Amino acid sequence: MTKQQPGFETLAVHAGGTPDQATGARQTPIYQTASFVFDDAEHAAALFNLQAPGFIYSRLTNPTVAALEERCAALENGIGGTATASGHAAQILALFPLMSPGDEIVAANKLYGGSINQMGHSYKKFGWNASFVDPDDHENFRSAITARTRAIFIESLANPGGVVTDIRAIADIAHDSGIPLIVDNTLATPYLCRPFDHGADIVVHSTTKFLAGNGTAIGGVVIDSGRFDWLQNDKFPSLSRPAPEYHGLVFAETFGELCYTIYGHAVGLRDLGASQAPMNAFLTLLGIETLPLRMERHCANALAVAQYLSNHPAVTWVSYAGLATDRYHALAQRYLPKGAGAVMTFGLAGGYDACVRLVEHVELFSHLANIGDARSLIIHPASTTHRQLTDAQLKASGASADAIRLSIGIETLDDIIGDLDQALSRVAAAGSA
Ligand SMILES: *Cc1c(COP(=O)(O)O)cnc(C)c1O
Repeated sequence: MTKQQPGFETLAVHAGGTPDQATGARQTPIYQTASFVFDDAEHAAALFNLQAPGFIYSRLTNPTVAALEERCAALENGIGGTATASGHAAQILALFPLMSPGDEIVAANKLYGGSINQMGHSYKKFGWNASFVDPDDHENFRSAITARTRAIFIESLANPGGVVTDIRAIADIAHDSGIPLIVDNTLATPYLCRPFDHGADIVVHSTTKFLAGNGTAIGGVVIDSGRFDWLQNDKFPSLSRPAPEYHGLVFAETFGELCYTIYGHAVGLRDLGASQAPMNAFLTLLGIETLPLRMERHCANALAVAQYLSNHPAVTWVSYAGLATDRYHALAQRYLPKGAGAVMTFGLAGGYDACVRLVEHVELFSHLANIGDARSLIIHPASTTHRQLTDAQLKASGASADAIRLSIGIETLDDIIGDLDQALSRVAAAGSA
């Protein structure tokens, strides 16, 4: 009998988490140390030359963080990961090996609001340019690609709009131009969608959300499929040409399929310094152990809430791809067969003012800027997370003035719906007063 590949639930508990070699500790220890002692001078030199794997300094690598990287890579069916201080740091780290000043990315315009800010404004300071296109028509990506485009960036399930993206079609367009597709898989998590199975090349996560799962730790991770051929053209000199600081080593030749991940540590984390703290990696590892169980409950609760809201008289629209009537339902069945996630948006007939009142009337829901907590969360994006966006960007990103975003937790369903019900009644009573 051939050995069976471990299932997703097994990997969530065990991948990267072998007993500690020094002590036998069953749970992954928090290696709360800045540096690691070298065996001797030769060992030190080999580590610095990237000739031997091992630990030097926790800005580059750390055993607790490495366990998280291995677990995330296993869950995404990738070959390596680079954990970062936050999801936003992961996005910069993911692009760092690919981009030079003057290079471009083409990104979906339906993205987390913070990502639109980061890409649209701060990237310019590196000389990187981002153009944004409507992902609903994937040919928009093809039209926006130029000779300087180095990647396409999308979210599998976009925050906040409940938009599902056609990963396969967009991956094909990227590959036609010899560039990789990067997918932010934060909202779906690998439990609901594995972008590598649909042709994506690189996945990024804000592990702050569902992977950590308790709202305890900020973090991010970049995961490589190992499938993109960085030597197929001249677009990626950081990987395909000699690196002067490593004595002319060519990452793609020396490290093969691991080159992108090794570059992420040896150059990305070394120079940008956006490393994840061991304590955060530990908390995230704990969270991931229960990811499959939580996602099942998140999805079941969210679908029931979406159904409740679609029948409520004060609600004008609901955007949740799990609803059979939703415009993204067919894509969700293809890419998210186990459920459409925990995050949804809906519109209130009373507009901006009613939305502001609703977030003040909820009691079980927490009014805050986060998603993916075990607790149910609520926010009015137009007056908070998406404040910096223009009206056109607000509309495109699904955060119009009348939109409320919910991240449904794993509490008792009746309590979640009961809380929304009382808050909506109080908004209606105030509106008619
Ligand atoms: C939260 C989030 C980010 C940013 O992650 P941080 O951990 O807050 O830096 C990026 N993408 C998506 C989809 C997010 O929800």
